Amino acid sequence: MERTMIPGYTIGADAYNDIPHVCASYGTRALMIGGKQALAAARDKIFSATESSPVEIIQCLWHGGEASLENIEMLMPEAATADMIFAVGGGKAIDTGKVLAQRMGKPFFTFPTIASTCAAYTSLGILYHPDGSLREYSFSKIPPNHVFINTQVIAEAPVKYLWAGIGDTMAKHYECTISSRGHIPCHIDGMGIALSTMCAEPLKIFGEKALADCGKNLVTPELTETVLGIIISTGMVSNFVQVDYTTGLAHAVYNGFTVLPSTEEFHHLHGEVVSYGILVLLTIDKQYDELNAVFQFSKAIGLPTKLADLHATVNDLQQVADKALAGIDVRVYPYEVTDTLIIEGILELEEYNRKYEKSR
Ligand SMILES: [Zn+2]
Repeated sequence: MERTMIPGYTIGADAYNDIPHVCASYGTRALMIGGKQALAAARDKIFSATESSPVEIIQCLWHGGEASLENIEMLMPEAATADMIFAVGGGKAIDTGKVLAQRMGKPFFTFPTIASTCAAYTSLGILYHPDGSLREYSFSKIPPNHVFINTQVIAEAPVKYLWAGIGDTMAKHYECTISSRGHIPCHIDGMGIALSTMCAEPLKIFGEKALADCGKNLVTPELTETVLGIIISTGMVSNFVQVDYTTGLAHAVYNGFTVLPSTEEFHHLHGEVVSYGILVLLTIDKQYDELNAVFQFSKAIGLPTKLADLHATVNDLQQVADKALAGIDVRVYPYEVTDTLIIEGILELEEYNRKYEKSR
């Protein structure tokens, strides 16, 4: 027997007004857990939306900083007395509340306060050690019971999260279509692969305007479309497809760059480096029309297109390629990905940049 659950969501500047209607059937006592900035942005709005409703927020707690087992265990006594968990934040705070709820068998609801990842929609939790290093993927088939996306809160968050979120989201489409190439997918994989188109095309159309609107703290149709792409389209694809289809060469390239101190030092965001990985992926896959389209889009919104944009040089490439192949990202791929293939792809992309710069 296999059960698939597809969470619903409410989106809009007034999305929190839907909390009593959606949550009351799960009980009356909600424990709110979040990141510090997330709670500062959303806490009062959530309290006022549940005031004089059957849903009472019994406590509002900081998640502890890391999505760690230690923090999850620390929160268990409070969670034991609650009927449901409200997880408020970006990635780590949401994953803390998510894994806490999954392990205690409690219903949980997510409240993304930035649009940077699909954590608010997925059943997967990513756990870290207290020092911030990766511990494990907490695999689960239990997604949130519902997602509340307040677009006004997201419009007021720093633009850089939305910017990097666009890069990470678009990768989902290219990675899952290439990783599954030549396979006959089962129903749920096929659903995810088909949906993944929604992770790329709408973002190319609406992304630039959405970033400008976010910079002015404005909720517009373009911002809403982009947020839906980052949180919902990507979350659905992640929940539907098997793990080897959720990742691919763009994330392998990201992992490769994590070995360079320069990447850390200049605080390049995950989605920012992944977006560069898409260009490498398209170059190696010889999808030159698509490469041109994504390259122009990346240029338009200031995402990196060349090594210098990531504070890296050709001397770093062997290290980057070795690390890129150390993970599982390209273990399922329509052709063998070697260090030479990655290095030659990156060098070809450097040449592509030089031609682009000359032609201007
Ligand atoms: Zn990613």
